[in-house]
Amino acid sequence: MLIAVYPGSFDPTTLGHLDIIERSAKAVDHLIIGVLNNNSKTPLFSAEERVKMLRDVTSIFPNVEVQAFSGLLVDFARQCNASVIIRGLRAITDFEYELQMAHSNRMLAPELDTIFLTTNLKYAYVSSSMVKEVASFGGDISQFVPWQLKDRIEEKYRDRIHEMR
Ligand code: ADP
Repeated sequence: MLIAVYPGSFDPTTLGHLDIIERSAKAVDHLIIGVLNNNSKTPLFSAEERVKMLRDVTSIFPNVEVQAFSGLLVDFARQCNASVIIRGLRAITDFEYELQMAHSNRMLAPELDTIFLTTNLKYAYVSSSMVKEVASFGGDISQFVPWQLKDRIEEKYRDRIHEMR
């Protein structure tokens, strides 16, 4: 049974992420989405909120599961009995960082391989930070995020503006 882990911040989940999830879920037996709960980064959404968002948009895929994790990715992947790590590549700018991470993970856990899926061209420019930037200025994010998440993301910014007043 081929188990894969797709790790990321998913702050928030975009259509680019969902496309990678859909395609990799077809290629493996079981896909575990690992939501990084990293203390050194201050995300817009808490790990619980990010897990909930991913569960809501992936409930239609029977072989996809979502879990939060902290610490080393290789430890999480081992805990999940995964043999493969999935990452997405949008542009050459992603490549250097991704290559370095794949090499480090290989050194730490030689039994784990990283598989890269190239972005769907439709979403090549979509990133969580771009979504946050657009939403923070009240722009329309509906073409970048799953429809179930649009209101939640917009609400977060409305709450923030209220808090700042
Ligand atoms: P991280 O903080 O680990 O980079 P992200 O949530 O930004 O987490 O992304 C998780 C993974 O999804 C990364 O491999 C990233 O390259 C990939 N990814 C993000 N957006 C897209 C996209 N639009 N198309 C393809 N892959 C993407």
